[in-house]
Amino acid sequence: MSKFWSPFVKNLVPYVPGEQPKLSKLVKLNTNENPYGPSPRAIAAMQAELNDSLRLYPDPNGERLKQAIADYHGVQSSQVFVGNGSDEVLAHIFHGLFQHGRPLLFPDVTYSFYPVYCGLYGIPFETVALDEQFRIRVEDYARPNGGIIFPNPNAPTGCLLSLEAIERLLEANPDSVVVVDEAYVDFGGETAIALVDHHANLLVTQTLSKSRSLAGLRVGLAVGHPELIEALERIKNSFNSYPLDRMAIVGAAAAFEDRAYFEQTCRQVIASREQLVGELQRLGFEVLPSAANFVFARHPGRDAEGLAAGLREQGVIVRHFKQERIRQFLRITIGAPEQNQVLIDALAGLC
Ligand code: PMP
Repeated sequence: MSKFWSPFVKNLVPYVPGEQPKLSKLVKLNTNENPYGPSPRAIAAMQAELNDSLRLYPDPNGERLKQAIADYHGVQSSQVFVGNGSDEVLAHIFHGLFQHGRPLLFPDVTYSFYPVYCGLYGIPFETVALDEQFRIRVEDYARPNGGIIFPNPNAPTGCLLSLEAIERLLEANPDSVVVVDEAYVDFGGETAIALVDHHANLLVTQTLSKSRSLAGLRVGLAVGHPELIEALERIKNSFNSYPLDRMAIVGAAAAFEDRAYFEQTCRQVIASREQLVGELQRLGFEVLPSAANFVFARHPGRDAEGLAAGLREQGVIVRHFKQERIRQFLRITIGAPEQNQVLIDALAGLC
């Protein structure tokens, strides 16, 4: 069939997601899912929606969800965009919000989807090296660009950039759209949403896949100036005006309304992370400071790819990247305490 492929499709380098194994007895610490389930209120809201109303199309604007997000973050619903996972929100951003005459800038070690979108939408890009400690240096982004994007905390490093540094970046780049991808912000970061009223070029994206434990529902969002949000709506409506189904709208809205469950499960993940960092250090690992629901760690005396393979043989899967600068690191999702213990016991036998 490939004889029918255009050169464009032949040249695409698609994103390769982390493995989703069928065997439930594996300890799965490779794709940063949440070990705790979604809010019981979110599940109840979706169960209540499972009725005859499904014959009707959903609200094309997802207003119920936008309002819940706006209330949670203290913004107007006209400042909120929702989509099918933050990957789809990012796809719309890449499709229409960056200037193509100059390169998009993002860190050399970051979410590997960014260069994929650049390939898909024909966006020129340049990567900016992280510093020696794997941190983003905002001063290095003071060069001509058609936009800037980075996760905060960064992935897969987990390192956090301060709001004060983000503000300096925004001020130095008033004519560029700056996207802060906050997929992991709830595990110890501070959201840049507080800055959107003062910076019309800032767009903040978040997901319900991590801190709200709804990766399977596929819901993501962006918050920014109403003009940027309107641009995203125009792009979205040029594909399909119904990005979210009825279940996703009510389930995600209920998840935002259940603050207590969200805060409690985030606290548990953070406490487990701190414990896991201590255990990894005791085994001789160097662990980058993490504000996310994963840690990025290397062992001075052990090859990371070998460790990942050894863990896999014992039923534990973690993420290893082949990129040269980080190939001695493992990215390990924070699991439930008993999963983290299985990981540590397995590593103890390997280190
Ligand atoms: N941004 C970053 C930095 C991520 O790691 C991920 C998860 N792979 C996403 C965005 C996308 O998350 P989702 O599409 O599940 O909302």
